[in-house]
Amino acid sequence: MAEVQRLKERESRAGARGESEPRDEPELEEDGSEPEELDPEVRARRDAALRHVRKFGDPVLRASAVPVERFDDDLRVEIAQMGALMDDALGVGLAATQVGVLHRVLVFRAYPEDEMTALVNPVLEWTSEERELGPEGCLSLPGVHVEVERASAVRVRARDGEGEEIIVEAEGLPARVIQHEIDHLDGVLILDHISAQERKEAMRAMREAQAAAGAR
Ligand SMILES: [Zn+2]
Repeated sequence: MAEVQRLKERESRAGARGESEPRDEPELEEDGSEPEELDPEVRARRDAALRHVRKFGDPVLRASAVPVERFDDDLRVEIAQMGALMDDALGVGLAATQVGVLHRVLVFRAYPEDEMTALVNPVLEWTSEERELGPEGCLSLPGVHVEVERASAVRVRARDGEGEEIIVEAEGLPARVIQHEIDHLDGVLILDHISAQERKEAMRAMREAQAAAGAR
């Protein structure tokens, strides 16, 4: 029997996701944005983690990851490292392709109080007809914040690090994060979900963020 996890949308509240800015609505900030008043130690750890994340322009972000066949210690180490990187980067999700590994592996934690979930070889079994627009960022696209339309609820079948089958039924923010990360495994970025005009603005925001990071 597969383990079934049900992840619901929750009321968002200020700081609920470990960010410094209060948000009115749940938001996928895979990249955490640039909270001004971040503790220097937290910021240093975040900057160090972000250096391990492949950025836009790296061809690996456009590659399709391949299914994992061996559920061994190497895989479990890979998952643990991805989880640590995601936490240090103050992200809510991370796909293996973002660290240059072409495995169909993703980790996410939509809310700080949740446990990290790792999905190996995830398959979207069902997506709701209902779709919703919501803000997203991406650790691989510094400075980019765009509205992306996604299915409001999903059911995913996957395996965990031990090879056990798991089914995740998610709605709201966790559903959004899962769709964002599965996209990464297929070489798809949030830039592919927006208009040409929005993409132009996103590219400009990315150049500005990179210039600002270079100046620090
Ligand atoms: Zn991303």
